[in-house]
Amino acid sequence: MNIPRTSFPRIIIIGGGFAGVALAKKLSKQDLQVVLLDKNNYHTFQPLLYQVSTGGLEPDSIAYPIRKILKDFPNFHFRLANVGEIDVEKNKVITNIGKLKFDYLVVASGSTTNYFGNAAIEKYSMAMKTIPQSLNLRSLILENFEDALLTSDLNERNALMNFVIVGGGPTGVELAGALAEIKKGILPKDYPDLDTRLAQIHVVQSGNCILKGMSANASQKAEDFLEKLGVNVWKNVRVTNYDGKTVTTNTDLTFETATLIWAAGVKGANIKGLDAERFVTRGNRLLVNEFSQIKGFEHIFAIGDVACMINEEHPKGLPMMAQPAIQQGNQLGDNILRLIEEQPMNPFSYKDKGSMATIGRNKAVVDLKRFKFQGVFAWYVWMFVHLFFLIGFRNRMVVFINWVYNYVRFDREARLIIRPFKKKLE
Ligand SMILES: Cc1cc2nc3c(=O)[nH]c(=O)nc-3n(C[C@H](O)[C@H](O)[C@H](O)COP(=O)(O)OP(=O)(O)OC[C@H]3O[C@@H](n4cnc5c(N)ncnc54)[C@H](O)[C@@H]3O)c2cc1C
Repeated sequence: MNIPRTSFPRIIIIGGGFAGVALAKKLSKQDLQVVLLDKNNYHTFQPLLYQVSTGGLEPDSIAYPIRKILKDFPNFHFRLANVGEIDVEKNKVITNIGKLKFDYLVVASGSTTNYFGNAAIEKYSMAMKTIPQSLNLRSLILENFEDALLTSDLNERNALMNFVIVGGGPTGVELAGALAEIKKGILPKDYPDLDTRLAQIHVVQSGNCILKGMSANASQKAEDFLEKLGVNVWKNVRVTNYDGKTVTTNTDLTFETATLIWAAGVKGANIKGLDAERFVTRGNRLLVNEFSQIKGFEHIFAIGDVACMINEEHPKGLPMMAQPAIQQGNQLGDNILRLIEEQPMNPFSYKDKGSMATIGRNKAVVDLKRFKFQGVFAWYVWMFVHLFFLIGFRNRMVVFINWVYNYVRFDREARLIIRPFKKKLE
């Protein structure tokens, strides 16, 4: 991999997401050699992926080169590498570009879509976890309308204009809101010869409320907002199968659709070598202690989505969200320095800064520790927080200008089929 051997201890970080970047920033200023490996050369701001899928933002405004984030640190090395295995006996990572020894290893590989073992859904549905997946979804949505224009078969046309989103968490809710706005504001202008009023958006949620992790008020208000936008919310309904045409559920309800979007869950993106049962707990996440150490190791850690840190308040592990990932990255940076200096490490304590979701123009719900609010003010708060956490001045400016433009013009200009998506139908 062409990484020089120095007298400094070598720390390998797998993953340049929220957790990995926060940790690398902390450690790269120190007398340590920090090597960050990621299969992409960019950091993805996942909370805004749905805006890429719906033509509101260009993908490059929510991605940022990892090398640029850490360009000022001489002891920092980045390699574009897919880590396939970790050899915990020999303290080595094995990647597609070679092997590398470590003194300390931090697994920050995030999560992947969880289909709960349903191969048909995995094959035919659309996920929205990465930028390429979001671009596929953007293409498919637009291709559907182009196809709907051509067909004279009414059932086929309706299926092309039906969108079924599985999962009523923030991702499903935000995507549904954005699709509803496209239906109202953009489709009639783009497809005047198509009756786009027939387009339908469904959110299917297995539980009895949407935005389950938020307050009852936020959940109810989000549902009201979606209803106002014409989205059908189906609660207590579990999607059981999809053959590329028909969605079946555990009730009598079925949907004919060309687009099933799976936003119903994620699981830890664990890596071979740490996948034995003794390391892994629910959701394929690595069980870690309060210092982020993986069971049985002093020098191998996991942080972010892939890590499951259990405490009294979070018996199922900390939420798979950006804040725990960033806070764990920061804290582990301090702890690794303490470990090297042979000082006791400090246990991690999660500071919950709240959660939020936007349902569309002037519509958002925000739950902070002390205040919970919904509506226009919440929408401004949502926008401010997302701009604040985006990496890079240019990205912030581009996103801000896009949002202002979209708001004033009721538009989403990035509705482009740049890389056509081929459906996997046989
Ligand atoms: C659509 C969507 C919307 C979301 N919205 C919100 C939100 O509004 N608020 C919120 O707090 N959270 C949100 N989240 C969750 C949040 O994005 C994650 O919790 C957060 O990204 C976790 O950070 P992480 O560093 O653990 O992993 P990630 O940010 O996923 O980063 C993992 C990195 O590891 C790399 N990697 C993985 N495996 C390998 C390998 N084998 N070799 C090399 N590199 C590898 C990946 O390329 C990636 O860069 C959302 C997630 C999604 C998908």
